[in-house]
Amino acid sequence: MMKNLQSTTTLNNGIEMPWLGLGVFKVEEGQELVDAVKAAIKHGYRSIDTAAIYGNEVGVGQGIREAMEEADIAREDLFITSKVWNSELGYEKTIAAYEESLSKLGLEYLDLYLIHWPVEGKYSDAWRALETLYKEGRVKAIGVSNFQIHHLENLMKDAKIKPMINQVEYHPRLTQKDLKSFCKENNIQLEAWSPLMQGQLLENVELQEIANKYGKSVAQVILRWDLQNGVITIPKSTKAHRIAENADVFDFELTEEDMKHIESLNQNHRVGPDPDNFDF
Ligand code: NDP
Repeated sequence: MMKNLQSTTTLNNGIEMPWLGLGVFKVEEGQELVDAVKAAIKHGYRSIDTAAIYGNEVGVGQGIREAMEEADIAREDLFITSKVWNSELGYEKTIAAYEESLSKLGLEYLDLYLIHWPVEGKYSDAWRALETLYKEGRVKAIGVSNFQIHHLENLMKDAKIKPMINQVEYHPRLTQKDLKSFCKENNIQLEAWSPLMQGQLLENVELQEIANKYGKSVAQVILRWDLQNGVITIPKSTKAHRIAENADVFDFELTEEDMKHIESLNQNHRVGPDPDNFDF
């Protein structure tokens, strides 16, 4: 159940993953990054989401190590995610990219490794590499990101192991109805990136009205909506007070009516690239 920041969901391979984690996209290497990761873990976050392309794995690793030491937290209690970038998709290249992420992070293993984008003609070989890493016990769970239904269907045709996660853009303006049902039917856990629509939803009047009713912020209402929809969420903030605010979503419950109201804000609107039409 979702009781607190350490509450987890069980992935299709039996691994437990926290419902809420910290995202660090666009946070550059440096003290602000290290401090944000430390603040989150010390506050009770157990899940951190980074990627090779973010160029910040060294600082994320430093923040993790310092927080573990200062707060006496074991590595097994944390859940660390990274992602293989598009230029590294290929069997050998993806294995090497995994090694490089581990070495930058200063970790022995990752909890979750994802294919960052579904580059046509390339993701199947990369998936075989992830399967090898998984079978060798080098990573606890493997998955994909930005995969549409047809990408998942295509991947699963040849896959020996089904993805445990699909991490996609998901927020009240992009509620991903069909993809969400598909993932549910196939026991692939959906995870939301840009859950706050990169901050663009926080002034929304309708969400503000809902938030007022519960005495919560708009950010908290959106994140709670993710959880009640069974979607893992990883809001990004470098501000300690917002890191705490975003985690304070376990003491209230949105009514069915408010859940539907939020769903009705959908416009199939993306703030990030379209997985069916990207050129990187
Ligand atoms: P978010 O939707 O999490 O929004 C982050 C923005 O909202 C930042 O500007 C942050 O500012 C602000 N913010 C956060 N909390 C609050 C709050 N409580 N009140 C007011 N403002 C707030 O965007 P992201 O794009 O960062 O997505 C989250 C994570 O998802 C990423 O960090 C990354 O880990 C992952 N991601 C994955 C992608 C993929 O392709 N797989 C693509 C994009 C993101 P401040 O820091 O100043 O508080």
